[in-house]
Amino acid sequence: MESNGEAAATPHAVFLPFPAQGHLTPMLRLAKLLHARGSFRITFVNTEFNHARLVRSRGPGAVRGVDGFRFETIPDGLPRPDRDGTQDVPQLCASARRTCGPLLRELIARLGAAGDPVTCVVADGAMTFAVYPAEEMGIPALIFFTPSAGGVLGYMNYAELVRRGYVPLKEKSYLTNGYLDTPLDWIKGFKNVRLRDISSFIRTTDPDDIMLSINKDQLEDDAPCAFGIILNTFDALEHDVLTAIRSRLPNLYVIGPISPLSHRIPPTAPSSSIGSNLWKEDTNCVKWLNTQVAGSVVYVNFGSITVMTRDQLVEFAWGLESSKSPFLWVVRPDLVDDDTAGLPEEFVRDIEGRGLLVEWCNQEQVLAHPAVGGFLSHCGWNSTLESIYEGVPMICWPFFSEQPTNCRYLCTEWGMGMEIGSDVKRGEVERMVRELMCGEKGREMREKAKEWKLKAREAIEPNGPSFVDLERLVEDLASFS
Ligand code: UDP
Ligand code: UDP
Repeated sequence: MESNGEAAATPHAVFLPFPAQGHLTPMLRLAKLLHARGSFRITFVNTEFNHARLVRSRGPGAVRGVDGFRFETIPDGLPRPDRDGTQDVPQLCASARRTCGPLLRELIARLGAAGDPVTCVVADGAMTFAVYPAEEMGIPALIFFTPSAGGVLGYMNYAELVRRGYVPLKEKSYLTNGYLDTPLDWIKGFKNVRLRDISSFIRTTDPDDIMLSINKDQLEDDAPCAFGIILNTFDALEHDVLTAIRSRLPNLYVIGPISPLSHRIPPTAPSSSIGSNLWKEDTNCVKWLNTQVAGSVVYVNFGSITVMTRDQLVEFAWGLESSKSPFLWVVRPDLVDDDTAGLPEEFVRDIEGRGLLVEWCNQEQVLAHPAVGGFLSHCGWNSTLESIYEGVPMICWPFFSEQPTNCRYLCTEWGMGMEIGSDVKRGEVERMVRELMCGEKGREMREKAKEWKLKAREAIEPNGPSFVDLERLVEDLASFS
């Protein structure tokens, strides 16, 4: 056991991720980087439900931790779901906000009493309430927003959108009468962004909507109390947006794409075996991709949260079938909202040899595979960044949260995406897949995607802006010990 004096000299970061896959993964990557590169001690706090899921998907070793990297659990305050799958995001935000602050305070106190004092807290952008217990205990807190910078800029303007009367929407008809196409030119940093491109949580007619008030609390009250803000993006991709965010939250650490940075941790490092996948990965994908022609496969994955109707699933299915492209489609067991995830037998028969269906894959590995030529995606930020990093053009079907903002930038500024209508129809799926894989537009998007791939790689090279900001983050966090 270390003496108090020795422990105090070692930086000790407590990580508090929001309990969803797209948050857990980048937070864990950062924790691993600090542990491996800055000799930090890490306490990584999962909810009890996610802790149990990690054990189910990866085995008990997943949460055992290694020397200097430990896992702790806290309840999320919600009733335990009866099956694995992503919990309701607004409910989880509200419940965590009610439940987890005092528990975090207790944890920090307990670790200190055990001679392992906490020197900083890194909390997810959906867990910003952590700044208060940290402040009370005299510990600096940083907030890691896992969405795109564009998404965060949208959240930063929620309260102003309410003040200016854009929202809450006056009546449901606003959803269909073109009102959502209103440009938001007055939001500094945005280019060609409309009301419809702002995070979906704002599309409410309820003035007391929980996400409206939580966003205001998170961005206007909590975030300015943090020592700094961490973003998983890179300057070349979101320069103007980052400048706008910096004008209100000046101490930004822009360290993306963080995942490939963390892949540089040598396999011999003790934390290299710690992973975050909440579903069990199907390992057949890569074997199957190895049998496919370079650039020929459409990869289809809607992330960890998207839920669609059975009709939408069936339209995607037949659209993919008639596109005649080979495809790898990840159909999560909870992807469909009425428990009938099964695809039509006729479809499964027809695609034999040309389409592979799995429940979960190692997406970064799939996107890096030379056989993959396009990605039909919900535009979650991690998926978007992973696709950019591998230079894979996208068909965008944004589902919720800030995915519409990511889609807008992919389809306009970044030139490597095209959007499919939310009311998905098989003919449109077929046409867009053909365009993506064989058409002129697809060729242009592929060229653009290649340019972004190079810029993403430059960002994390030594002396690249994200690499330099990560070094600064490590130094600043270490200075608190
Ligand atoms: N990976 C990669 N390059 C590397 C190391 C890893 O592309 O240098 C990929 C690899 O496919 C790995 C995945 O990233 O399985 C995820 O890595 P990790 O084990 O850190 O996390 P997990 O996804 O299991 O949570
Ligand atoms: N992911 C994966 N395998 C899958 C589906 C998703 O490894 O079959 C990973 C993906 O690589 C990404 C994360 O899960 O890192 C999903 O995050 P994202 O922000 O794209 O979307 P969300 O799940 O939050 O909607």
